[in-house]
Amino acid sequence: MEQVCPLCNGLRDAGIKCKNCGAAMADGGMWSDYVGPYSPYELTAHVKQENGGQCTHYLHCPQCGNEAYAIIQSDFI
Ligand SMILES: [Zn+2]
Ligand SMILES: [Zn+2]
Repeated sequence: MEQVCPLCNGLRDAGIKCKNCGAAMADGGMWSDYVGPYSPYELTAHVKQENGGQCTHYLHCPQCGNEAYAIIQSDFI
């Protein structure tokens, strides 16, 4: 068995609704894809977190533009 993030691997969507308008939040990819070049200290922290079975994802609302982050627990496949 392998521990993988279901969002990174397209196994399922985030299943998180926008707090502003209630639309389904769209997965914008891994946190590190966005903040990596600008925030090396944050990146290090989140890479460690990912190795511990969790993956931080950036989510955005396609309806109102709201942004959020979600900690996704990895699944065993
Ligand atoms: Zn992920
Ligand atoms: Zn929204």
